[in-house]
Amino acid sequence: MRVLLTNDDGIHAPGLWALYHAFSVRHQVTVVAPDRERSAVGHGITLHQPIRFEKTRVNGGMTGFAVNGTPADCVKLGLAELLDTAPELVVSGINPGANVGINVNYSGTVAAAKEAAMAGIPAMAVSIIAPGARYVDAAARFTEALSLQVMGRRLPVGTFLNVNFPDLPLKKLRGVRWSRQGTGAFAQHFEKRTDPRDRSYYWQGCDSQGAYDQPLARWDIPVNP
Ligand code: MN
Repeated sequence: MRVLLTNDDGIHAPGLWALYHAFSVRHQVTVVAPDRERSAVGHGITLHQPIRFEKTRVNGGMTGFAVNGTPADCVKLGLAELLDTAPELVVSGINPGANVGINVNYSGTVAAAKEAAMAGIPAMAVSIIAPGARYVDAAARFTEALSLQVMGRRLPVGTFLNVNFPDLPLKKLRGVRWSRQGTGAFAQHFEKRTDPRDRSYYWQGCDSQGAYDQPLARWDIPVNP
């Protein structure tokens, strides 16, 4: 199938390469991703400055469009201009760090999938629990297998999936559990510091607190990558 890949960590991020390698074996893949990290920009779009794009080759392998916009810009521009044919699926990620609870509203990874869903294209936002995760390639291969199941079952139009992986090898990933979004959020944490000119400023932390997403036991789906 035709797959559009994007993310919010930038076109050079390892999570995007992992998806590219997992999907390009069996699918026609196009990458349209921010030219730099744009995490936590939510569903913002660029209206007051030009949006530039550049065909980029990453490490001599994956070729894609690097866009100086947000993840939502990448999906909008990809669908409207850069792709010759509409993709059948949009996958965003793999984000290093879970996207769960209230925090999905800040996520550029999730926003890109939401943008695709709003355009009527099935989409998946994909994250792995830990920054510095070891098993991103396993998550990518599982994502590809899951995408075939999702396409086979057909998502309701306007729906996207927000997928979060534990940091585990492929043989330990036993299936999929659907969950209800929780109310966990970033803890309110502003560290007050002083700059060299003696002015105060703040640096916002992003530790989570509160209830994570609540598993719903009855929707287990085995997936065999
Ligand atoms: Mn990110």
